[in-house]
Amino acid sequence: MKYIKYYIKLNDLRLPSKYALSTQIAWILNHPKGWGKQLGIQFNEINSQQWADLTFYFTPQPLFFTNWSFYCALNRTLYLNSDNWVTRDLDYHIYLINHELGHFLNRKHLHICLPDGSAPVMMQQTNGCSCEKTNGWPSNLDVRSIHPIEVIWFYYLGILILISRLLIFLI
Ligand SMILES: [Zn+2]
Repeated sequence: MKYIKYYIKLNDLRLPSKYALSTQIAWILNHPKGWGKQLGIQFNEINSQQWADLTFYFTPQPLFFTNWSFYCALNRTLYLNSDNWVTRDLDYHIYLINHELGHFLNRKHLHICLPDGSAPVMMQQTNGCSCEKTNGWPSNLDVRSIHPIEVIWFYYLGILILISRLLIFLI
């Protein structure tokens, strides 16, 4: 079992209380159909951004040119569009959290529908989708959609860290 610590940061007074949001996000993250159960990860909320592996940051229109949300790998933060959050329903909340979390978990976008006609969670669904049904939970296809470029990048980064540690040791 892997443990991931996350922090929730709010920047919009229209949002529900921190407690209500925390409860909802914890439910999505550790739900039987969620990423956590599928990948063997336990998600725990903490009260310090400094020690968090991941931050959920709710803010109005994080990308000025669109209503999308996005994940920034540099500061490991999910920038979640709070306009969408306050105006849309629970199904959308589930989709938004699981989609952006998928990027944190190194999953890439998918463009084909699932055999039952629903959309994989890694398909963009904020402005509608091309499948019969929208879907917010990760499918087998989403679980397998690991980003090859990111994997290679992490691989080289790992080797680089190893070499630098070895060098420090030798010097
Ligand atoms: Zn995406």
